[in-house]
Amino acid sequence: MKYLRSVIIGIAVFAMTTSLSGSAFAEMGHGAYKESDPNKGGIMKSNDKIESAAAYVLPTLPYADNALDPAISAKTISFHYGKHHKGYADNLNKLVAGTEFAGMPLEKIIAATAGKADKAAIFNNASQAWNHTFYWNSLTPKGGGEPPAALKQKIEASFGSVDACKKELAAAATAQFGSGWVWLVLDGGKLKVVKTSNADSPLTKGMKPLLTIDVWEHAYYLDYQNRRADYVTAVLDKLINWRFAAENLG
Ligand code: MN
Repeated sequence: MKYLRSVIIGIAVFAMTTSLSGSAFAEMGHGAYKESDPNKGGIMKSNDKIESAAAYVLPTLPYADNALDPAISAKTISFHYGKHHKGYADNLNKLVAGTEFAGMPLEKIIAATAGKADKAAIFNNASQAWNHTFYWNSLTPKGGGEPPAALKQKIEASFGSVDACKKELAAAATAQFGSGWVWLVLDGGKLKVVKTSNADSPLTKGMKPLLTIDVWEHAYYLDYQNRRADYVTAVLDKLINWRFAAENLG
């Protein structure tokens, strides 16, 4: 009985291997069939090619996970980047495998899915992936201080002073009910502070983001518990990357 079963399995494996060696295998291209992978046993999964050709790759952090300490601890960064941000990237890859969105830049996925109820999961994960990468770049270990001259001039023209701009960012951060983001944006030639809920982004509102602060609880709870205002003040005084915002002005 045991022998018979292995003969049947042997025939089945032979049949699959034979079918892969025909034209179907040729169409799969390089990298799709990995003989050295013991988990696959030489049998290809239907989405192998899509995943290997087009998976979204989580960008590396622009600094070490303890570089923002003590304003944001290494523990917060390791969970926020390693679990939350990575989770959005992994979910996105699962959701888009085999769809028209596989291999598309995040901005295109966001534009194509915004406001579509049946694409909400793809939008949320793509937009959260984009927002987090933008957030990491909006922070820098020796941040805060004075913005570069051109940005400072623009801030003063729009808000009166850098302090007034920071106050408006802090006020928006505490006013945001529940999870979301606070942004400094360029909107019709003027700088503005806007807030968005959950995964939403100024990108879908025709605005150009210059910098952002994540105000989801996972961004600060380990370090500040419920004190969102203290987290935002620390970010604005010690970490905010005005140089990145100035580069985004274009
Ligand atoms: Mn976050």
